[in-house]
Amino acid sequence: MKVTEHIENANGETLFSFEILPPLKGHHIQSIFDNIEPLLRFDPKFIDVTYHREEYQYKYNGEGLWRKQVVKKRPGTVGICAAIQNKYKVDAVPHVLCGGFTREETENFLIDLDFLEIDNVLALRGDPVKNETYFRPEPDGHSYASELIQQISDLNIGRYLDEEMKNSAPMDFCIGAAAYPEKHIEAPSIESDLFYLKKKVENGATYLITQMGFDNQKFFDFVKLCREEGIDVPIIPGLKPISSKRQLTMLPHRFHVDLPNELVLEVLKCKNNNEIREVGIEWCIAQSKELKEAGVPVLHYYCMGKSDDIERIVEAVF
Ligand SMILES: Cc1cc2nc3c(=O)[nH]c(=O)nc-3n(C[C@H](O)[C@H](O)[C@H](O)COP(=O)(O)OP(=O)(O)OC[C@H]3O[C@@H](n4cnc5c(N)ncnc54)[C@H](O)[C@@H]3O)c2cc1C
Repeated sequence: MKVTEHIENANGETLFSFEILPPLKGHHIQSIFDNIEPLLRFDPKFIDVTYHREEYQYKYNGEGLWRKQVVKKRPGTVGICAAIQNKYKVDAVPHVLCGGFTREETENFLIDLDFLEIDNVLALRGDPVKNETYFRPEPDGHSYASELIQQISDLNIGRYLDEEMKNSAPMDFCIGAAAYPEKHIEAPSIESDLFYLKKKVENGATYLITQMGFDNQKFFDFVKLCREEGIDVPIIPGLKPISSKRQLTMLPHRFHVDLPNELVLEVLKCKNNNEIREVGIEWCIAQSKELKEAGVPVLHYYCMGKSDDIERIVEAVF
């Protein structure tokens, strides 16, 4: 079933979903199952699986030269999605990126998903390759998520890249896209970001999931701005409990989000990571309850490889 159908069928009840990332190459898929299984009793309506593009590594060859190597540290997005749907009968949402893909490769990737009966995708541009400052599309790849969304919408009406193809089978993807209540780092202004966000919706995105946020007011203000701009699709807040002191600087640096000072002060009072975890869980429970009370369609949690904190939060909220 599609994410939007789950939301419609819920009749205003807030649903639960979460995001996982594929294990590092060389690890067993069981590590993913071990994270998913404790959360199944809360009836997640969909599970997102992130996509991780290639990285470049330089390896010394011992003779004075460094060799550039392309590595994919977390492959397996499609396989994990297929396994989730097969094993648990829960809808899986693979993330699909512009970065690292030509249009032809995107089309073939989507054909695989379609054949596996995966009918939800989250369409994203992707970040620049590690150690590069700016995003570079592949030759003949997409520069922005809105273009990728257009390609998926075209496939949904049977329009493939080969325009001479006759009687081509339409696909049937429900397309989600990313949104940034605190503005995407590269956007010169929130107005500009909203302009392009609207383009993603016009090109076929039927719901949005936000970057993680720690201050609900920022989410509420953002939804208001979106509605004023005519962006009328469901907007799902992304949530993550803080669990270490390092995250006080790592999360703003990596995800370009602010942490409320009240939360920062509580974390700084803690003597160890166990105490910080408790603070993070309590904060996330309070945030989740307020968002649920406000009638958000779904509470979407970023697991980042560990589900035990999410389990405690969801138990308290649903
Ligand atoms: C919910 C969520 C899940 C994510 N999952 C993944 C993942 O699995 N893998 C991964 O690598 N990354 C993931 N990301 C990170 C994401 O790829 C980055 O934030 C990336 O930098 C932007 O992606 P986007 O799809 O929002 O880009 P876009 O919507 O293309 O926007 C990128 C920037 O360009 C601007 N822009 C858009 N269109 C135009 C235009 N036509 N002209 C000029 N400017 C324009 C926007 O304002 C924005 O500043 C995720 C992010 C979120 C919020």
